[in-house]
Amino acid sequence: MGGSFRIARIAEIDIKIHVTFFLILILGAFQWSNITHSTAGAFFGVGLMLLLFVCVTLHELGHSLVARAFGIQVREITLLPLGGVAIMAKNPDKPLHELLIAAAGPLVNVVIAGVLIAVLGADVRTSLLDAQGLIPDATSTSFSTLLFWLLAANISLVVFNLIPAFPLDGGRMLRALLAMLLGFPRATRIATGIGQIIAVAIGVYGIINSQYLLVLTAVFIFFGASQENTAARSKTVLITQKIGDTYNKYALTLQIGDRVSHVTDYILTSYQPDFAVLQGTRLLGVVTREEVLRALALRTEDAFVTEIMQREVLHMQRNLSLDDARTAMESADVRIAAVYDDGNYLGLVSLEDIHEAFAVLTFMQMRKNRAARTGEDDGAVVL
Ligand SMILES: [Zn+2]
Repeated sequence: MGGSFRIARIAEIDIKIHVTFFLILILGAFQWSNITHSTAGAFFGVGLMLLLFVCVTLHELGHSLVARAFGIQVREITLLPLGGVAIMAKNPDKPLHELLIAAAGPLVNVVIAGVLIAVLGADVRTSLLDAQGLIPDATSTSFSTLLFWLLAANISLVVFNLIPAFPLDGGRMLRALLAMLLGFPRATRIATGIGQIIAVAIGVYGIINSQYLLVLTAVFIFFGASQENTAARSKTVLITQKIGDTYNKYALTLQIGDRVSHVTDYILTSYQPDFAVLQGTRLLGVVTREEVLRALALRTEDAFVTEIMQREVLHMQRNLSLDDARTAMESADVRIAAVYDDGNYLGLVSLEDIHEAFAVLTFMQMRKNRAARTGEDDGAVVL
């Protein structure tokens, strides 16, 4: 994520902080120096916010470790002022996996709250029985008050995240449960629709009560839901479309004895960015536009294309879905792959080709959906 930097690496996952995160520390300092009417309060506020974000990080690690147990790569965890995000290579394929991954986050906060209750012991019971609210001595800067605030924060994290509004954990759990009965595409439409209705309700409540942080959260939920809806729709498209229908069948190719000057002719007269180097019909390697330009700049002689080509090319079978192809290319960190029909080389496909196919197919799908929407009642909110 742009504007964030790494602060730690836990279980091979980068933990990053977004620059805007520092706003929340300043806010904490201000708020608690106000509550406690002291400078010590400012340090208390900063300390509390830091501890709170340790809890948020543990929450995200909960999601991440369960996801990894199901074979889903976790790229990084980023801490933002409104909370954390674990960035995963893909969404889970099975509803049960999504349910468990989503539940793991709030469960971590339940465990933390349990530990804090155990540590605070009798104090928790007294404060609850006296009905003074959860935090007995809210304006103090004592260590036990700190733990009480942290307990309250963990309880709110559990309650807030379990609201069944996509993309909150509760919304993901709802989607997973619905998907077990209805399949992912329909479950996503319903869950994101519910998420947007709840977001609007939270937003209106926030505006009426001048709680602007709540309004901001509502906006975040609303757009998160619509983004997920689009992503799910495109995933349907990417799953059904095969890589064998996407590669360029009319691509210009090079043969083993060709020289760089030969490719420059192609580059000047076509938009093709990558060229397969063949021996007969067998693929030897790939030459990209950048490599040709570099060879022209650095080499004085007219080199053979075999001298500058990449020999390692990711192989894919033609019946692989675009979604799996994209995942494979992203995790291998390459932008070109060779498409095969068993042992026969067919052509090259690039990440740009996949993105383009995906944009076109999504557009066509949307037109089809719009035509079919009359009379359809699936709870999707169209705004
Ligand atoms: Zn979560």
